[in-house]
Amino acid sequence: MIDIQLNDRQEKIIDIVKNNQPITSEAIAKRLKLTRATLRPDLAILTMSGILDARPNVGYFYTGKTALSFFSDKIKGIKVDEVKSVPIIVDEETSLYDAIVTLFLEDVSSIVVTSNGLLTGVISRKDFLKNAIGGLDLEKIPVGVIMTRMPNIVMAFSDENILEAAIKIIDHEIDSLPVVEEVKTKDGEIGYKVLGRITKTTIARLFVELGKND
Ligand code: ADP
Repeated sequence: MIDIQLNDRQEKIIDIVKNNQPITSEAIAKRLKLTRATLRPDLAILTMSGILDARPNVGYFYTGKTALSFFSDKIKGIKVDEVKSVPIIVDEETSLYDAIVTLFLEDVSSIVVTSNGLLTGVISRKDFLKNAIGGLDLEKIPVGVIMTRMPNIVMAFSDENILEAAIKIIDHEIDSLPVVEEVKTKDGEIGYKVLGRITKTTIARLFVELGKND
């Protein structure tokens, strides 16, 4: 379980506040047989982290927030737009051979496929392997033939939060999501312009950043 590291005294303060709220710092100090000055740094940490709420002339309240709910709030506050990476895009007509070269050159595990600038599919490592083993002529066959195609593409939108995107990745057992923007095509239909991508690496990087941030 993820937890903000609280010291014993801070845990005791939380218990006292939970059971006696609202309670002044003086009263907390008295119960712990300490001075108010000694408690000040602990109270500062507990209020800054949002576990306690201090109201002037009233005292301290317990907010009911746990360390886990802070982590969760933090993640939900991060928008897909802020953390998306650059998409690697090829056109549907690109040969499997050229797309595989792109996969290596760009060091990615999947490629977004478009036609006339709009999302039509996604093609991943295993899609290539499966078809290479199957003996397809890699130089002749275009990616459009073997890719996973719309409307079966799972997408992320800029203003979604990163938790929603991560849930899609887990639920659909895929490694990445194209980040898209809805557009109207000339014939009045809905299409998707590709703005970026969210991958398992995006999530892992965020996890590390949040974990290191103490
Ligand atoms: P890998 O090839 O390493 O297993 P994925 O898990 O991403 O990579 O892909 C598994 C399958 O899901 C592939 O057939 C791929 O075309 C498809 N796929 C990948 N990303 C998406 C997506 N965003 N939406 C729908 N299908 C996808």
